[in-house]
Amino acid sequence: MAKEDQWWADDKLPKAKINRESLSEAAHLFSYLKPYRVQFIAALFFLFLSNLSTMVFPFVTGKLIDSALLKESGIGIFQNINQVAIVLMVVLTFQAMFSFARISLFAVAGEKALADMRRDTYTRILTLPMKFFSQRRVGELASRLSSDLSQIQDTITTTLAEFLRQVITLIIGVTIIFNISMKLTLVMLSVFPVLIVVAVLFGKSIRKLARKAQDQLADAGTVVEETLQGITNVKAFSNEKFEIKRYSGSINKVVALALKSARLRGAFASFIIFCLFGAIVLVMWYGASLIQTNELTVGELTSFIMYTTFVGGSMAGFAEVYSQLQKTIGATQRVRELQKELPEDVDLINEEIITDNKLNGNVEFKNISFSYPGRKEMQVLKDVSFKAEYGQKIAIVGPSGAGKSTMVNLLLRFYDADAGDILFDGRNANDFPLTQQRKQMAFVPQDILLFGGSIKENIVYGKPGAKEEEIIEAAKQANAHDFIISFPDGYETIVGERGIRLSGGQRQRVAIARAILKDPVILLLDEATSSLDSESERLVQDALEKLMQHRTTFIIAHRLATVKNADQIIVLDNGTIAEQGTHDELMQNENGLYKKLASMQFATNPVLQPEEI
Ligand code: ATP
Repeated sequence: MAKEDQWWADDKLPKAKINRESLSEAAHLFSYLKPYRVQFIAALFFLFLSNLSTMVFPFVTGKLIDSALLKESGIGIFQNINQVAIVLMVVLTFQAMFSFARISLFAVAGEKALADMRRDTYTRILTLPMKFFSQRRVGELASRLSSDLSQIQDTITTTLAEFLRQVITLIIGVTIIFNISMKLTLVMLSVFPVLIVVAVLFGKSIRKLARKAQDQLADAGTVVEETLQGITNVKAFSNEKFEIKRYSGSINKVVALALKSARLRGAFASFIIFCLFGAIVLVMWYGASLIQTNELTVGELTSFIMYTTFVGGSMAGFAEVYSQLQKTIGATQRVRELQKELPEDVDLINEEIITDNKLNGNVEFKNISFSYPGRKEMQVLKDVSFKAEYGQKIAIVGPSGAGKSTMVNLLLRFYDADAGDILFDGRNANDFPLTQQRKQMAFVPQDILLFGGSIKENIVYGKPGAKEEEIIEAAKQANAHDFIISFPDGYETIVGERGIRLSGGQRQRVAIARAILKDPVILLLDEATSSLDSESERLVQDALEKLMQHRTTFIIAHRLATVKNADQIIVLDNGTIAEQGTHDELMQNENGLYKKLASMQFATNPVLQPEEI
């Protein structure tokens, strides 16, 4: 079963056609071997030597037998069995050393080249624009880094060596057996390749069937999962009998496929035993007749049979190597595709903000229109214009889907506007180097996603390399210090995957501390909608107030308390600015959208008091 599992898994990686184009793509990735070419070439050399010593082995074995049978017939070192045995041991020792050198050198070149390739691919992925990420699935990208690159690594460290080994074995082996006996070689070559091709094809269909059985078993598993997850439904509808029938049906199919595959496997085993061994019998019988006519010695026949198994093994191995190479070509194509994607202008070198690029916090949207690259037909922002000055709090409100987050996305330059300009201090956003600009902005999202490490690591993410005191100061301002030190591990407390070991309010305050530490000129806040209890709410609100001082803040606001304090409220509706002004101004407009939204919030949000409006 384990073997079948493997077969099935093996077939999971898609294969690609091997042609000129795909090979040249692959060659590009193999350029990663360049810095390690000395090791790689040395490995190839040792591969050749170890192979050569393997090929000497049957020859010397034959001589050992011959020198035992016909004492005087040998020449030179092959005269007596002790000497031949010593030669064999020497050959073996060399072979062991060569193999060690070959395997370790291939590993050095392969591992190092692959580490470079992984690093480059990861760097490329991280520097790609958001447009790319909104069109891909994260799982797919992670798989490129793991399975595709592992496939390439296997090829460099093993498959390639295997392929070369087979070629060398085939060439040298066939040459030697031709030399031993042309007649016998012709007999062998007339049956073996045919048998091997049939065996390989047979193996392929067995593998296919095994995979089908696995898929079917997975289907049966899905039935169990669905039923158990929805057990209340099953019971409530008294559908136990129906589900058992469904499961039985699925299991019966598994059995049918498994039996079919077993029969095929049985046939395969019989075939191997009968035909392949039959062929060996044929070669031995013909070889024996050649011994009788003194055309061959016993030792030569032994060597011949040994070489034949080597050659046969290589022929059979070609199919596997070919399928591995196809998978590798597929993998290199996918990795190359990724490497060919255009990155955004991310600067990985300069840490400091250059004076010329310092932002003062004045922002202007000038006739901005935008639609997402994946959905060009739907305009999300339509001719949006407004100005924000340093120190202001700008609340963005509006119904769901109005385009609020999109405005934040454009401010962070995750996407480029289709029309219009975003100006920072009167200068076109595109004139600022991307990284320099983003370094002066901070974004606190609605669903805060912390990293799995410690609280300290999560805060310091806002300013890598920050001092201990700075971190504590930021945590204090964010009202997070007290709860952090109340934990036994303090700042070293591990927050768990995505921060699940912290409460919602604590997570928010850690994120606020991170933003405070970054000390951005422009702050982008997507206010959390989930209501906290009033104490946490007060702590978070208080922390936010501190965070918003001395910078320009854009808040996607959901709470009226925030909106009321804003210097400017932008009411977005379906991608356009419906209204704009302060809370008091907007409340004057009886028929305005803001007034409507405000009264709706008041009706549904018990946290707010009527007098807050
Ligand atoms: P909410 O309050 O529900 O978060 P919002 O006002 O922030 O809504 P946006 O997230 O800006 O709204 O979305 C505006 C429109 O753009 C929506 O219709 C949404 O479906 C669409 N949209 C958002 N992100 C993408 C994307 N990556 N690709 C295509 N369309 C998108």
